[in-house]
Amino acid sequence: MDPRLLQKLKQRETEGTLRKLEALPPGTIDFCSNDYLGLSKTPVKLQHSGGTGSRLISGTTPSVILAEQKIATFFGAESSLMFNSGYDANLGFFSCVPQRGDTILFDALIHASIRDGVRLSFAAAHAFRHNDLNDLEQHLKKAKGSIYVAVESLYSMDGDFAPLKEIVSLCERYNAWLMVDEAHAAGVFGQTGRGLAAKLESPNLLARLITFGKAYGSHGACLLGSEILIHYLYNFARSFIYTTALPEEVYVHNASVVELPTIPEKQQRLVANVQHFRSLAASLPLRSESNSPIQIVEVGNQNKLRMVAKSCQVAGLYVKAIFSPTVPAGKECIRLCLHSFNTEDEILHLVSILENALHTN
Ligand code: PMP
Repeated sequence: MDPRLLQKLKQRETEGTLRKLEALPPGTIDFCSNDYLGLSKTPVKLQHSGGTGSRLISGTTPSVILAEQKIATFFGAESSLMFNSGYDANLGFFSCVPQRGDTILFDALIHASIRDGVRLSFAAAHAFRHNDLNDLEQHLKKAKGSIYVAVESLYSMDGDFAPLKEIVSLCERYNAWLMVDEAHAAGVFGQTGRGLAAKLESPNLLARLITFGKAYGSHGACLLGSEILIHYLYNFARSFIYTTALPEEVYVHNASVVELPTIPEKQQRLVANVQHFRSLAASLPLRSESNSPIQIVEVGNQNKLRMVAKSCQVAGLYVKAIFSPTVPAGKECIRLCLHSFNTEDEILHLVSILENALHTN
């Protein structure tokens, strides 16, 4: 292998930022997965284990078409297209929808999949300061060509919400198209999990992304939009065209999981758990006031973070420690994901372990 690559790995090791693939220790309490509603535990019977070909060759069956129609109807969209993952969907959308001469404006904390799609696009691209409407407006004033604005309704790494109403009004004022990534909001927020952008009802809302690997406990991701947008995507989005389809049952399962009658009750339990956590966690350095299932505990340096993560691990709690370069140095933190299935005692245990670890060192 090229020695420069080994050098890069060594450098990460020296900095203490080398990533490792580690299996979830058995029997630990889950405060880190995106399985917000515990739906990954819903069994799916697979009769076919392969997608047999790309969607444009043999991977589209009548059941797949019906599933996409049902998903579009559920989320109040004209049409939908299922990609193999949210990563693929964002990569496909941003690499083919904005054209040369256009401008993409994306929130500075936007997910890597959108950044990578933007890198593949020929359009100009600029980040605006996180959730900063004034900065977005300044960029809108200067933007050229068709303008695309990309935001997440619930930010995956900070756990805070985008001011969607204000953003969509700016898009209307400056004639820009809005794309909302609902990866962390779908299933969790909105009427029976329809997400936070469903009620925007703006002609400038071009597309929404719903992923099935998080609250829906499955695989795949749908882009929702007009029939013409979906038609365009399956003609031009290379991450849709040049890959094998998911097994048919995954599409069918995804169309039915969104309508599970237990979802509203699980949503309520999740909201109650978030409230319970926040009421106990007053002395923890939480990053935001947000009532979302993603809660960030600021730690602020590598060594302390390693120690806090170790204390959680020893106490049987599985939490995610976020080191730089995933976040800038000094912004090291613990990212907690709360779930509908966490018990009050588990949450109490979590808060007391974090308090002890943070305050004794
Ligand atoms: N968007 C956001 C905001 C995400 O957090 C993620 C997953 N981390 C994705 C897109 C990608 O979705 P998937 O896991 O289905 O590839």
